[in-house]
Amino acid sequence: MKIGILKETRKGEKRVSLSPIIAKQFISKGFEVFIEEDAGLNSSYKNSDFKNIGAAIEKRGVVFKESDILLKINPFDEDDLKLVNKGQVLISQLYHKSNTKLIEAIASKNATAFSLDAMPRISRAQDMDVLSSQNNLAGYKAVILGAYEMTKIFPLMMTAAGTITPSKVLVYGVGVAGLQAIATAKRLGAVVEATDIRSETKEQTESLGAKFISVKNEGEESQGGYAKEASDGYAERQKAAVNKSLFQADLVVTTANIPGRKAPILITEDQVLQMKNGAVIIDLAAAQGGNCEVSKLNKTVIKNGVKVIGTTIAPESVSTNASELFAKNIFNFIIHLTKDGVFQWDLEEEITDETLIVKDGIIRKK
Ligand code: NAD
Repeated sequence: MKIGILKETRKGEKRVSLSPIIAKQFISKGFEVFIEEDAGLNSSYKNSDFKNIGAAIEKRGVVFKESDILLKINPFDEDDLKLVNKGQVLISQLYHKSNTKLIEAIASKNATAFSLDAMPRISRAQDMDVLSSQNNLAGYKAVILGAYEMTKIFPLMMTAAGTITPSKVLVYGVGVAGLQAIATAKRLGAVVEATDIRSETKEQTESLGAKFISVKNEGEESQGGYAKEASDGYAERQKAAVNKSLFQADLVVTTANIPGRKAPILITEDQVLQMKNGAVIIDLAAAQGGNCEVSKLNKTVIKNGVKVIGTTIAPESVSTNASELFAKNIFNFIIHLTKDGVFQWDLEEEITDETLIVKDGIIRKK
């Protein structure tokens, strides 16, 4: 089977859906790999890196023409679809619920499409979960960005000129990104606290050497292990429990999301006004509306001396690692969908069923 890797066309995107190491693994399993010319350049992979392990470097048109499977990170667009042929299998993040036109266009081509962002959050699917692999990097980068924006260093430092006390970091939301933010801040020497609506995250937080701020729950905690929307009562109890730490924090990283909903507001403008002058908030939920009331996507808002940075922390800012992990997720997914190099799908099986959005021109999921 022939796998085609397309160069990403979204503005600012630096990742590529396959790395040379994973391309080699595909080839060793009997797949042929076609890479669009220069597709890996922004992830530090040269054309020759792919060529040396046996992949073919081709022009865009040839990749579309030759491939059985077409891989991209970002959703296919109108220009791509002009080149898609009947029977081809498209794999990328499609965000199908909000991209109805794209899904209809794929179906009108009589193609098949899998969406990686529709991966079920079950243990078996963990190694195919691109949202987790990319969010993990976002958590790391959020702390690095915060460190850069702060006017203080993280660690305790005893010098001849005096002692520098460690910075205080507060993390809201201990999911994939939050856990990595905690680990990164700890590694840099900060004193770290964190809170989450799901009580099971207490142990995970403490295992990283951070302090967990518990907020009393009255049933709103979680559904199948994932956060439910918090009640007004919870939000008030959370403020009461967290405010002391928030007002002393040098860096706050917010990562709280409710799948499929607007992000909850966890820090109001009134709370920002009570924070320390010079404090920094990195709001990773900005694309979903933000966890901080004053944050604006891709902007730095300064409120009473507090820098509020609303960002998606694009994983493309660490494109080499992001591409490596994405590629590994893709490899595991394609191996899951195939046997001896040919597709073998069990539509009753959860991973295949959830991610298969269009099958041979028929839309399965809306
Ligand atoms: P997410 O991005 O949906 O949310 C981030 C965190 O915000 C979550 O921990 C959530 O509980 C928290 N949160 C939501 N509302 C909050 C509020 N009002 N106050 C405080 N915190 C709030 O989460 P995620 O990082 O994608 O993952 C959440 C969990 O799911 C993690 O434990 C992760 O390991 C697990 N997960 C499992 C799989 C899998 O098994 N395949 C895949 C992805 C994630």
